[in-house]
Amino acid sequence: MTAQTLKGKIALVTGASRGIGKGIAIALAEAGAHVACIATKAENAKAVVAAIQAEGGKALALGCKVENGDAVTATFAEVEKQLGPVDILVNNAGISNPQPLLKMTEENWNSHMDINAKSVFLCSQAAIRQMKEAGNGGCVINIGSIVGQNAIPQTLSYCTSKAAVEHMTRVLAVECAKYKVRVNCIAPGYIRTEMIDQLVTDGKLAAEAIEQRTPQRRMGSVDDIAAAVLFIAGPGAGFMTGETLNIDGGWTAYGYL
Ligand code: NDP
Repeated sequence: MTAQTLKGKIALVTGASRGIGKGIAIALAEAGAHVACIATKAENAKAVVAAIQAEGGKALALGCKVENGDAVTATFAEVEKQLGPVDILVNNAGISNPQPLLKMTEENWNSHMDINAKSVFLCSQAAIRQMKEAGNGGCVINIGSIVGQNAIPQTLSYCTSKAAVEHMTRVLAVECAKYKVRVNCIAPGYIRTEMIDQLVTDGKLAAEAIEQRTPQRRMGSVDDIAAAVLFIAGPGAGFMTGETLNIDGGWTAYGYL
């Protein structure tokens, strides 16, 4: 059983309908947080909310396209009204649609930068306004990627958006420390979710080769990432801000053949 280290905290998780975001939302609820689960449409997050409520937790499903500033403003206002000001924000929503440079469209570039990076600015601004006003400090956790540090061919837009997320983490951390807000980034390696399954199905990712390239010889699970979120959001990480935690089974450290 998870310790109730976040009892009564208000958490908002973007991209909470499935995959990593779903795992994070459930873990936060198990730790006692009340969780706003955001997806592009509220109905997409309803099953996660029902699962949390079935275990006695408190959760709310809301629809919001995180790249849309007006939608983000309205969503955070609704969360504050229904649950209270946000204490913990997890910027997890993201897309990955690899295209080779010479075929990459402007739309592909813009969608990655908007959904993966601009959303971090918009949601962090909305959350940190509430945290400053409430005066209790807070915690922002951005889900970046090891490809923000490691160059992968055919993924210029995705890699660049994730590099931006990592650096936004540092800038937000140093600017918002005065509000007692900590901002950190988790950079997952390859985690078996629908996003990865789709890339494998489309022939854009070779699952076996990834596992061979990973010292632990496996892809990660959503629980590997959720555990790191609980650590960063919890009382033990009070002096940690502006940091990126790679959770990748040794993928980034590996430098041999
Ligand atoms: P999934 O594709 O499984 O889930 C994506 C989530 O993001 C869904 O909840 C989806 O909601 C939501 N979403 C997508 N677009 C938007 C949008 N415009 N506005 C709001 N929500 C949106 O992804 P993963 O769980 O695999 O990945 C989650 C995060 O982790 C992403 O940021 C990804 O880049 C990152 N990551 C993933 C890795 C992996 O190996 N899986 C590795 C490294 C990083 P809806 O159901 O409504 O579509």
